[in-house]
Amino acid sequence: MSESPATRFGFVAVLGAPNAGKSTLMNKIVGAKVSIVSPKVQTTRARVLGIAIRGQTQIVFVDTPGIFEPKRRLDRAMVEAAWKGAADADIIALVVDSERGYDANTRRIVEAEALPAGGALLILNKIDRIARTRLLILADEINASGKIRDTFMISALDGDGVDDLAQYFADNVPEGPWMFPEDQISDMPMRMMAAEAVREQLFLQLHQELPYALTVETEAWETLKDGSHKVSAVIIIERDSQKGMVLGKGGSRIKAVGEAARFELEKMFGDRIHLFLHVKVRRDWKDRAEHYSVMGLDFPKG
Ligand code: GDP
Ligand code: MG
Repeated sequence: MSESPATRFGFVAVLGAPNAGKSTLMNKIVGAKVSIVSPKVQTTRARVLGIAIRGQTQIVFVDTPGIFEPKRRLDRAMVEAAWKGAADADIIALVVDSERGYDANTRRIVEAEALPAGGALLILNKIDRIARTRLLILADEINASGKIRDTFMISALDGDGVDDLAQYFADNVPEGPWMFPEDQISDMPMRMMAAEAVREQLFLQLHQELPYALTVETEAWETLKDGSHKVSAVIIIERDSQKGMVLGKGGSRIKAVGEAARFELEKMFGDRIHLFLHVKVRRDWKDRAEHYSVMGLDFPKG
């Protein structure tokens, strides 16, 4: 009788500047959208786990908010969550937007004391956007720091190189039992997924700074007899003047946001969703701890 091969299990922390493509990469490997993505920076606020299986290996990705120079309290909470995600990881994956190059935010991560020599796997992303020669120069430049263990070049968007990278993760996490059930793809509670789906649409559909000024929370979740879910979420804004922008003419914006978010959620859960959205003004939400804990963030003092 042959023994079945040993299982492997490990955590991969995905670090990088805002907009590098961290969430896109994690979703691609997990094979489902577990972390929201938008062309705007700092879309991901909290730490999100995405769980993938490859052969006998279960890989848990810790998608993090980008690392950048924090100015306000919410910024600090996000950057702290990112580093915390890295602390216990088996592999630290540093994702870089190769078109942007070795920018200040990426340097901040590479040069951080928390990152030991040879401590990170470098992932040059968005190779669909730049020439091969520039890519090699960029790889050399970042490798000169001594912090890089190996380098991969990928396009998280079209999947180029992602398969080899996933295999690398699988080969480089330790042997051990799986910590999550086989069919679980995230640790995010359904309530938070619903709020995140709405926030993603607000990022996609609203202009300029407004998405940064708001947060979304699920207030009620009821599963009906027919298996569908009735979900109420509140969009919390900072000023009365922002209300019109969220609602749109005759309520058209919030309706479009609700429809698109519902579509995404039905895809995620495979069940029918009835989504009810409303808007509330809470001037100081960014200074109140309860709005951080629902996002899975610690509340930085001061
Ligand atoms: P994050 O902030 O690091 O999580 O970045 P996101 O995953 O939210 O991606 C930021 C933007 O970059 C989105 O508009 C993505 O569609 C885009 N993006 C991600 N990966 C690639 C890639 O490989 N190529 C191109 N062209 N765009 C990408
Ligand atoms: Mg992200």
